[in-house]
Amino acid sequence: MPRPILATIHTEALRHNLARMREAAPDARVWAVVKANAYGHGIERVYDALRGADGFALLDLLEAERVRALGWRGPILLLEGAFEPRDLELCSRLGLWHAVHCDEQIDWLAAHKTQVPHRVFLKLNSGMNRLGFAPQRFRAAWARLDALPQVEEISLMTHFSDADGPRGIAHQLAAFEEATRDLPGERSLGNSAATLRHAADPRVRADWIRPGIAVYGSAPDFPQHDIAHWRLQPTMTLATRVIGVQQLQPGDTVGYGSSFTADAPVRIGVIACGYADGYPRHCSTGTPVLVEGVRTRLVGRVSMDMIAVDLSPVPQAGFGSEVTLWGRATNGTVLSIDEVAASGGTLGYELMCALAQRVPVVVAV
Ligand SMILES: *Cc1c(COP(=O)(O)O)cnc(C)c1O
Repeated sequence: MPRPILATIHTEALRHNLARMREAAPDARVWAVVKANAYGHGIERVYDALRGADGFALLDLLEAERVRALGWRGPILLLEGAFEPRDLELCSRLGLWHAVHCDEQIDWLAAHKTQVPHRVFLKLNSGMNRLGFAPQRFRAAWARLDALPQVEEISLMTHFSDADGPRGIAHQLAAFEEATRDLPGERSLGNSAATLRHAADPRVRADWIRPGIAVYGSAPDFPQHDIAHWRLQPTMTLATRVIGVQQLQPGDTVGYGSSFTADAPVRIGVIACGYADGYPRHCSTGTPVLVEGVRTRLVGRVSMDMIAVDLSPVPQAGFGSEVTLWGRATNGTVLSIDEVAASGGTLGYELMCALAQRVPVVVAV
């Protein structure tokens, strides 16, 4: 029998979350962001549930090929554009739309031989200072692109650094408005956080939203808001079973480094999951976990293949009991990936993307 660990991808939840993002920006088209192998879910596994989107956004050309191989004929956007000149050949061949964020990419386009002119998304650096043209250089870049026979249509995009937090988006929105004022073309600004928190503003909804994390059932602004607040559903469950039970007496310790010491008699379940499965090693005693759908806590250190959990709140649990690391238990109880991530000092994004290769994955409704 294989090790009892299993990840489940919930297609109904993906559909639901995508519909939620549409509901938040009903007049916008939706890029389903499927970069990083659909945030660790697997592009092939989420494709059917997300094909109701207007397009797929990603950044790896191999992933774009995979989306086309699934039969998708609609728009695909390369969020970082070409990495080298010959990437443009693939864009021409597969009809990929691509971001243009620097002069080098315009040079490559100008030298590119193609029968089919490209649809490009010119990216403004409105303050995040990652990719994009600075505001004072944006118009010149637009004019250069506009003069190229290789370019069919220019859309305008930017990305927010603080849509999930107190600084907000006003300063970047103003920079975008200013830099793009009388330029024609469709606009795309909002990620998940901007769409959920700021889409009352039609300038944020614009022509296209680009939600990623919310589609995968994680609240972009946790702990300020959780998935229940945003009416999102978990799309990935990581589950395993109890493979050993220990009865501790006061003073007994658990695991490497003896970081947990029992102060009373306590029953401990040892479960088949560890950091080699993608569970964060930084989660320590107290991190929530569900045993038979009942909330309890992790005790001691996470090791490579095992974790210990406190069975006190679940007296009926024992060898073979169901354990939910994140997602939805069989009894319907939800443990959001955000809560676990916060306990490990990270984000739901990182946990879902880091699901290890050795974990078998099934797709369910
Ligand atoms: C990843 C990404 C998104 C999606 O962001 P979420 O926070 O996951 O919604 C949108 N736009 C760009 C440019 C991205 O790189």
